[in-house]
Amino acid sequence: MHSLIAFTAWLSLGQSLTSAQTQVFLPRAPDSLVAATSTLRPWLSKDARIVFPSKEEWAELQIRGSSPRISPNYNVVVEVATEADVEKTVQIAGHYGIPFLAVSGTHGWAITLNNLPFGIQINMRKLNSTTVDPRGKTATVGGGTLQHEVTRALYAKNKQAVTGLCECVSVIGPLMGGGHSMLQARHGYALDNIVSARVVLANGTAVTASETKNLDLFWAVRGAGHNFGIVTSMVLNVYDVQNWTAYVLIFTQDKIEKLFSLVNEVDAQPSRPSNMFLTGTGVRISDIDAKNPVIAYTLGFEGTEQEAAPWVAPFQALGPAVTQVATDVDYISLHTVTQNNLESTTCRRNLNIVGNGASLPSWNMSALRNAYNIFGELTADSRFNTSVFLLENYGMEGVEAVDASSTALALEERLYPVLTSPVIWWEGNDTQTTADAYAYGEKIRAALFAGMGKAKKHTYVNYAIGTESFEQIYGYEDWRVKKLKSLKRKLDPKNRFGYYNPVPAV
Ligand SMILES: Cc1cc2nc3c(=O)[nH]c(=O)nc-3n(C[C@H](O)[C@H](O)[C@H](O)COP(=O)(O)OP(=O)(O)OC[C@H]3O[C@@H](n4cnc5c(N)ncnc54)[C@H](O)[C@@H]3O)c2cc1C
Repeated sequence: MHSLIAFTAWLSLGQSLTSAQTQVFLPRAPDSLVAATSTLRPWLSKDARIVFPSKEEWAELQIRGSSPRISPNYNVVVEVATEADVEKTVQIAGHYGIPFLAVSGTHGWAITLNNLPFGIQINMRKLNSTTVDPRGKTATVGGGTLQHEVTRALYAKNKQAVTGLCECVSVIGPLMGGGHSMLQARHGYALDNIVSARVVLANGTAVTASETKNLDLFWAVRGAGHNFGIVTSMVLNVYDVQNWTAYVLIFTQDKIEKLFSLVNEVDAQPSRPSNMFLTGTGVRISDIDAKNPVIAYTLGFEGTEQEAAPWVAPFQALGPAVTQVATDVDYISLHTVTQNNLESTTCRRNLNIVGNGASLPSWNMSALRNAYNIFGELTADSRFNTSVFLLENYGMEGVEAVDASSTALALEERLYPVLTSPVIWWEGNDTQTTADAYAYGEKIRAALFAGMGKAKKHTYVNYAIGTESFEQIYGYEDWRVKKLKSLKRKLDPKNRFGYYNPVPAV
């Protein structure tokens, strides 16, 4: 009986969908959720689940990387298990005027996620699968798969894909905005490695986006993807695995200028190996320096210690306080050696975290020194003393090899080799502490931007706090701005995917 009512509701929904699609999207009252979920329930696959706040599992499904600071206002969670589940949920949410937000790794930190007024969490975690194609060139990855899952599934077949670094983050979250990683110098950003994606559009239909199908959507997904649909699966390039050599060198603060001048030099060399990444973290380690944060610097090399030796030598010549080397490291263990594994402090959840990303054409020493001093003040404050300062130069050869106009990614993202951000952690819900964290983050970023001269300010969309201008995130070129906005008008006219560093329609 229940499903008969739902079926009748569904039929009338189908009939009214065309007219509903032409209306401007205005969220209706949360009480429409009850009607929507009873309409939806019979259409879901057997493994899908609808969870209301009264259920025991509710609390766990609200925990995010950065909760309580980021707490979208959900009234119900739909744990989807198939692409058809996502289609139905989006269609029915659209019909009832209910906002929704997809969740995969929960590590998004943009404050715009808090703009969800009420609505449905579309939890993607059951779309967790990785299948290598028989030729071993590509893999199909489910839209809710986390990085540690894809890494292990591929490694079992001696393969690796270009994802982000941190094991706890999803594959799709970083990828749709770029995807910076240890493999980018060789293979480009994660998004440069998408062969195709299945995308559920705002009207609730799933389509394929690729070089041959829905090319405009394929363009938009690669750089501004969070704004255009829900990805249920994607086909990614995969590569043979090799073992790594990883050096971790810890420098005291007096070495900052020498260290980052060297990084600038190495990065500018045409012979910089594409199988090498450089990345640093400003962090408090009181055993090494009781007063100031130090720089833990990693040089990772996909190859042997002998091959890496000439590249690490100039870094060692700077006199690090500590040198550690790990040789013959497999790709899974590399995430542990670089402190990006599930157990690392980086992957903590349910703790406020925020960053203020800045991408830079090169390191400017006085700007970096100023930013470092502010970071020193931040971490001397006991509320923020586990915060870190990301100082990343993963390498650009593979990134620059891709035609910048072929994806929605901002031009600056392909031109600027430096990716940096304070990553500020703190506990609790105190308004003043949150305001202080935001102010410190902005101050650090302003200090870094002050060293850019006339270069255009840019922030990686996935390191954006959500207060940046559209151009700062998505790029300044007139044609790119126009194309993005016009695709937004065409593909998501009611701005249903408008909660992650939104692309405006006008
Ligand atoms: C600990 C940590 C480590 C990080 N490491 C890296 C890194 O190594 N490289 C890098 O480039 N970035 C990195 N980032 C930034 C990261 O790219 C973003 O935080 C990203 O948004 C996280 O995605 P998520 O799925 O984990 O988070 P979520 O909060 O679940 O998702 C983020 C956004 O993506 C949308 N979304 C999720 N799933 C889908 C889907 N299937 N289809 C469409 N939209 C979807 C959500 O609606 C939301 O708007 C890191 C961030 C943190 C906090």
